Amino acid sequence: MTDIETLQRWVDESRSTVFFGGAGVSTESGIPDFRGSDGLYRQQYDYPPETILSHSFFEWRPEEFFRFYRAKMLCLDAQPNAAHCKLAELERAGKLTAVITQNIDGLHQKAGSSNVLELHGSIHRNYCVQCRRMFDAEFCLRSGGVPYCTCGGLVKPDVVLYEESLDSDTMRSAAQYLRNADLLLVGGTSLAVWPAAGLLQYFGGQRLVLLNRDPTPADGRADLIFRTPIGQVLSQLRV
Ligand code: ZN
Repeated sequence: MTDIETLQRWVDESRSTVFFGGAGVSTESGIPDFRGSDGLYRQQYDYPPETILSHSFFEWRPEEFFRFYRAKMLCLDAQPNAAHCKLAELERAGKLTAVITQNIDGLHQKAGSSNVLELHGSIHRNYCVQCRRMFDAEFCLRSGGVPYCTCGGLVKPDVVLYEESLDSDTMRSAAQYLRNADLLLVGGTSLAVWPAAGLLQYFGGQRLVLLNRDPTPADGRADLIFRTPIGQVLSQLRV
């Protein structure tokens, strides 16, 4: 039996499959993974991405934050790829319980997934820090410089910056889905970023499948590992 046939059988036998994904899921949609590509940004920015995307930097230099954010994070033209589409298809067929993602691009929803837990927030939600009025991503894209609400308050993307904690309700819910899952597909993440990486310990099932180009700290626990592009693997699944 090939690995794909094994995966197919596990998906068919599963009562609760959960997908947990990271940046690698969206790179096939052209969204850059800023980790490990510092050199690229140093030519255009005076600070590394990890500094710019921190809470203190956001407060200290909002113009510079939004210059980076608009250029590198607000990828509104990006389209879902084969991985997003297959996951949405699996959910519609009742074969996928939840998508837990570290991505903020909203591509799972764009592909049709409805139960998506966004650990790091979303570029599609933005709020006024004073009156809490909500704004869409287009508002942030269109407003040059720093976006402001009509009340004068600064508009902040609802994304989790460095130094900020993850939403506890989302974390609790993700842990619950993992506890109840019997098949866990982990894709496009090095499992290096805490605390999202720690969520894996909540998985109570027997079958752990990793879909990642590079080795991860969880390889030893995995029951099946794919190194080929995630879209290529998932698109072979029959729903
Ligand atoms: Zn306001």
